[in-house]
Amino acid sequence: MINIQDVINKVINYLIERGFNIEKVRENLLNARQNRLTVGVWFSEKDYLDWYDPLNIIDELQLTNVNAIIIIAPRAYTIADEVLHSIDRARYWYDIFIDTKVYSVEISLIDKNLEESINNILTTYIDLVSNVVARGCRCPRCLSNMYIMYINKFYSRILKCRVVEYIYRCSNCSLKIHRLERLE
Ligand SMILES: [Zn+2]
Repeated sequence: MINIQDVINKVINYLIERGFNIEKVRENLLNARQNRLTVGVWFSEKDYLDWYDPLNIIDELQLTNVNAIIIIAPRAYTIADEVLHSIDRARYWYDIFIDTKVYSVEISLIDKNLEESINNILTTYIDLVSNVVARGCRCPRCLSNMYIMYINKFYSRILKCRVVEYIYRCSNCSLKIHRLERLE
């Protein structure tokens, strides 16, 4: 049996380590902020949505306030799919366009899925979270100079060691690369 409060505390600790400030919106909904990026984190013990009307979903998950939302549930993938359909329906029914990326984290794979989602979100929204600009390596695609746009240290749950995280972006072709280096 999963204790959802333990899951929430674990996620909060991890997000703080990844550079986010946490604000509790409701018992099962957090806002994680870093620089100009806001990520919603929604915890569900169920594996289906309680609402059908997309306006309820947009309101419950506060989708208009966040750049991305992470759904954490026993079968998060299924719920994420329903949320994506609701975002589509909002456009067809009400002409409301929600520009929020949806990520799913299965509770049984929480360490791996959460770390991958955060890697992905930081890379996608590098313009909103960038904390450094420094010369990096050559771009593997176009050979121009890449710039290091983000650096952070954390304990990787996937690699099981402390790492330095780098996000590179090519100034020419905009390729983005996320890389972890082990810290001994
Ligand atoms: Zn390039």
